[in-house]
Formats: sequence, structure tokens, C-alpha cells
Amino acid sequence: MTATRTPGVPVVEDGVLVSTSPATGDEVGRFPVASAAEVDAAVARARTASSWWASLGFDGRRERLLRYRSLLANRLAELADLVHREGGKPAAEAVVEVTAAIDHVAWAARHARRVLGPRRVRGSLLVAEHAAYLEYQPYGVIGVIGPWNYPVFTPMGSIAYALAAGNAVVFKPSEYTPAVGQWLVDRFAEVVPEQPVLQIVHGTGEVGGALCRSGVGKLAFTGSTATGKKVMAACAETLTPVLVECGGKDAMIVEADADLDAAVSACLWGGMTNAGQTCIGIERVYVAERVYDDFLGKLVERAAKLTVSDGEDADFGPITMPGQIDVIRRHIDDAIARGGRAVLGGPDAVQPPYVKPTILVDVPEDSVAVREETFGPTLTVTRVRDGDEAVERANASVYGLGGSVFSRSRGMELARRLRSGMTAVNGALSFAGVPSLPFGGIGDSGFGRIHGEDGLREFARAKAITRRRMPSPLPAMSFDRSPKAVAMIARAVRLVHGRSR
Ligand code: NDP
Repeated sequence: MTATRTPGVPVVEDGVLVSTSPATGDEVGRFPVASAAEVDAAVARARTASSWWASLGFDGRRERLLRYRSLLANRLAELADLVHREGGKPAAEAVVEVTAAIDHVAWAARHARRVLGPRRVRGSLLVAEHAAYLEYQPYGVIGVIGPWNYPVFTPMGSIAYALAAGNAVVFKPSEYTPAVGQWLVDRFAEVVPEQPVLQIVHGTGEVGGALCRSGVGKLAFTGSTATGKKVMAACAETLTPVLVECGGKDAMIVEADADLDAAVSACLWGGMTNAGQTCIGIERVYVAERVYDDFLGKLVERAAKLTVSDGEDADFGPITMPGQIDVIRRHIDDAIARGGRAVLGGPDAVQPPYVKPTILVDVPEDSVAVREETFGPTLTVTRVRDGDEAVERANASVYGLGGSVFSRSRGMELARRLRSGMTAVNGALSFAGVPSLPFGGIGDSGFGRIHGEDGLREFARAKAITRRRMPSPLPAMSFDRSPKAVAMIARAVRLVHGRSR
């Protein structure tokens, strides 16, 4: 039976997921949908594979992961083309995405031993006779559920760090980008053919739910806040720990002393790259009144020149998930109905599967275009007194993922005050390209961190060990202690901790 197809909307035909291009409707690939039993079987295989993978040690895993990153680098053009065909983003944009992902694979491989390797730590007064050791042990199997908007970079932020920490991974890609997910997993199997260390299970949300209930050691989810809550609820049934990377409504602050040309350039790219379908995309802009008119004029002039098509030279392509077009339309319509104005684009900019650049001003702060994630190439630009008012407004959001500040003198100060997991000063989205920095949000943007040292620790359990190294001179944690020993301990604690400084 063949279902009617809408370009870009995945369909399941006879138990097979069919993926199509959102721009052309061309079929990109077919993938068998996994049943709950097949998900469980994949996790069982992964459990066995994880013992072998862990036994390779940091050096063995590093060597294989670095080979994987070389393979990705050497076949970058092929992967970028697939990302373009399946998700719609220009191949040039896909090259940038894959490059960032490759950097993360290399960083995780090279730093896992330093961050997670066993170490001796300082002992204590109370148990001076014991040496203390800290180790980070893998969970075994990590379930990774990923979104479609950055189908390489985003899941790889969990997969690379989980693998480097010594886990096997079972990956459920978005039903919108199964071909990209399969490609990544197949290439890994070329480098690590011995055991199914990285497996994939295809399907819709139900398959993600099955993965949550499969008994994985930890579940790393990236997607919308609404689905993140469902994932947490499903994982709660088995007390499976979760990492939740969700959406955002990131703000850019433009202070009066900002370099306006640089701010405009970063604002456009941060807001409209990948057609605005970026979790850390700029969606709200707060501009100091002294430079508001100048900034807006430059922004509109440059945004009007952006090209939108499926062509190679396009600045951005179609909306990947056709259903999202209704959300974008609703946000624009609501903003205008509530007194806002479109100084570029507007309702007519919505031309499925494309949405042209849209800049909205005078939009009330409580409208959906300011409060909810739009995930389209739209920006609200709002006049504020100064950076302080901008911070106040930016922080009045349930989300707290990334953000940006443009100022010559107050950048770091304002950045620290933004309620978000990440902030770029005089730039946009730049933190995502630095593997040594943690990535993640607060509030409705989720919790936990991928990338960097925190990202490695996220996929390992801290294990504390003490080892007696000599008989107890002053037994304190024992019924053998004498009153004399207790008195000596009391004297010692006064000596060590009794001073006020
Ligand atoms: P969704 O929440 O719709 O889906 C995310 C993943 O969860 C998909 O693989 C989806 O499968 C799966 N899923 C759906 N329902 C369930 C369920 N009940 N149980 C388990 N898994 C389920 O997000 P999108 O794919 O639309 O991605 C866009 C969202 O992701 C945006 O909100 C964006 O901000 C956010 N995002 C966050 C990032 C971050 O790091 N903070 C990075 C990138 C994106 P299926 O697709 O088959 O339905």
C-alpha cells in the first residue's frame, strides 16, 4: 500500500519508513521501522558490545574514534550532499555542520582519558589511613534520541562523548532524517566492525518511547520541550537517568556602544541560518534606543538580500518539517494582529516549503512570537533603554539556552547576567563550535551538558574508592575508638579548621 506523500513528510509504508526531500519530494531512502522487541534486542546486543568497547581502554577507543573522524573528514562532501537532500539545508551549511561535528569527535577522543581516567585524590583528617581514588565508569549502553535540524552535529554531541567515555550507543534519529543517521552508523561500522558498538533503530516517536523503556543506562534526548517531558516520564518508569537538550528562544542584546555592522551580520546569521531552524538560533533582538534605528535599517537592508531556494547558492533552504510552517505563520499573524509590524516579509513571506526573511517590530512581549519557539527565519526587534533593560526582558522567558551580546565595553558583564547556558559576546552561536565548552540550557531548555569535560562526565558514573594504606592511628569511624582518640580528633579539628581564615 502506498500512502499519499507530501514532500518532506516521512511516511511508513508496510513497516518501512520512507524519507523524502522537503524541497523536491524525491525519495532519499527507506528504512525498516523497529518494533519494541527489536529495540530491546538492539540494546541487549549493545550491552555485550559495551563490555568489549570498554575493555579497549581509553587508548583503544581514542584510536578508533580518530579513525572515524578521519573517515568523516574524507567523505565530508558525500555526507553534506545527503544532509542537503534529506533536510533541505544548502550543502555549504551542511559542510559547516559536519565540520563542527568532526571537531567534537576528535576532542572527545583525545580528552577522555584526561577527564575520566582514574586518579588519586586528597584524603582527609578523619580517615587519614585511607587513600582515596576517583574513577568515571561508563553506563554501559546510552540511548540517543535526536532531532532533524542538525542531524549530524546534534546527535554526535551525545554519541561521540558517550562512545569516548566507553559506552555503546543505540541511536534513534528523527523520522525526518533517517538516511543521515544510517550513514553515520554505517560509517562507524566500517571503522569498528568487530562489535555493534553504535546501532540505529528507526521509526517515529513510539520507537523513541521504546528506547526510553529498554533498560539503557542513560537516555540522551535532544528535541522539543514537549517531547522532552514525555521522555522524562517514560524514563521515570525505570528510573533511567536522562539528559534533556530542548528548545530555546534566544535573545541578542545590542548595546549602544556595539559595532553595528558586526551585530547585524551576526544577528542575521544567528537568526536565519538553516532557515531559523536552530535550537540556539537568535529569535528576539533587544536594541538600545540610541542605535535602534540605525541597527534596524542595516538589518532590513541586509536581510532583504538573503536568497532562499533549494539551489546551491541559496543562503537558506526550505522549512524541513512542513508542519512547522503553520507554527511560523501563526506567530507572524499573531504578532501583526496584536499591533506589531513586519518591516520585512510578513504573512506573504510564507511560501511553502519556503519562508522568506521576516523582521517584526513593535511586537508585544507577551505575544507568541516573543514567548514561544518559532523555528523559522523570523526576528522580533525591540527598542529598549539600554543593556540592563535588555537583560531583564531577555531573561523573562521560560527558556534559557543560548544568547548573544554586542557591546564594546559591557559584553562580559551582560553575558554573565543572561539567564542561559551559553552566551556569545560580539558573535552568535560561536560557543557551539568550541568542543571544550559545555553545551546545554536551563529552565524549559533542559538540563545536563553535552560537549567538553562536562559532556564527557555526563556519560559516565563517578565511582569513589577508598583503600586502607596503614593501620588507623586514631580510629574515628569505628567502635574501637577511645575517649582519648576522640579528644585528639577534637584538638586536631580545631587546629585545622578553627581559624576564621
Ligand atoms: P521532537 O521533540 O519532535 O523530536 C525529537 C526526537 O524525539 C525525534 O527523534 C522524535 O522522533 C522523538 N520522539 C518523538 N516523540 C517521542 C516520544 N514520545 N518518546 C521518545 N521520543 C520521541 O523535536 P524535533 O525533531 O522537531 O526537533 C526540533 C526541536 O529540537 C526544537 O525544539 C529544537 O530547539 C530542539 N533542539 C535542541 C537542541 C539542543 O541541543 N538544545 C539542538 C537541536 C534541536 P520522530 O521525529 O520520529 O517523531
